[in-house]
Amino acid sequence: MQQIQLPNVALTFHSEECLKHTYRKNGQDVVKPIQKIVVNGEVVCPRCQVEEQTKELQQFESDRADRIEKLRRYNVLYKESLLSDETILTATFANYTATEREEIENKELMLQYRDRLRKGEQLNIILQGVTGAGKSHLCYALLKDLNEYDKNVEDPREKKTCLFINMEEMARLIRDSFRNKDSKYTENYLIELMIGVDYLVLDDLGSETGAIDTDKRATDFIQRVLYAVTNGRQGKTTLATFNLAGKTLYTLYDKKGLSRLMTGKNFVVFKETTDKRTGDLPF
Ligand SMILES: [Zn+2]
Repeated sequence: MQQIQLPNVALTFHSEECLKHTYRKNGQDVVKPIQKIVVNGEVVCPRCQVEEQTKELQQFESDRADRIEKLRRYNVLYKESLLSDETILTATFANYTATEREEIENKELMLQYRDRLRKGEQLNIILQGVTGAGKSHLCYALLKDLNEYDKNVEDPREKKTCLFINMEEMARLIRDSFRNKDSKYTENYLIELMIGVDYLVLDDLGSETGAIDTDKRATDFIQRVLYAVTNGRQGKTTLATFNLAGKTLYTLYDKKGLSRLMTGKNFVVFKETTDKRTGDLPF
């Protein structure tokens, strides 16, 4: 019997043949017997071993690709969001201080929406009202919550993506891209980004117009962006916050785009809450 000596491996051919392997001949599968071998006292088919290893390697590669894709989706919130203020990054439901009645109710309402979104419902949610009530805080907290919630899904394509876009910052970047040709933040880039994600927050709608208490309309490119995004996101969950009265908002934007956002009538309204940022001075 033939014997091959490898370092630390005693390898001999065995009389048995493996009959699992075939090749195609004239349109038919023909069995190609493979001589088994004995490795360290164990009878194995070398061909089966190679196939097994290839499968393991492919599995490893595909698991790796899945992990990368899942991580990419998880990171959309942290890498692509446009913020006006970095402190929002620490916002959670837990650290939203709700002391006034309205805040307590609105936080509870947001938690209810969160539960519905977790179950896969599609909702548009509008947070409207006084500056500094924590509308952006609640929205960012919601996104973070949802982003963590499904981060361990098995299929990476089921991992939902979240994005927070401050309107003023977005307008600034698009305006900048008109002059700066190297900027990645073109109108089209941002439109595609905003349409593509599963959960989108449009933060501080109207702020980018600088039009508080004026009847100025939003600039053409903002109109285009809002129209394209609300059109492309039909059937997906979008949240929007704004300080302006709804009536004022309708004078700023194209009605069609805006009313798409308002469908569902899930409103979280702050009328009484004091501005947390400046504090409520007793004198
Ligand atoms: Zn085999």
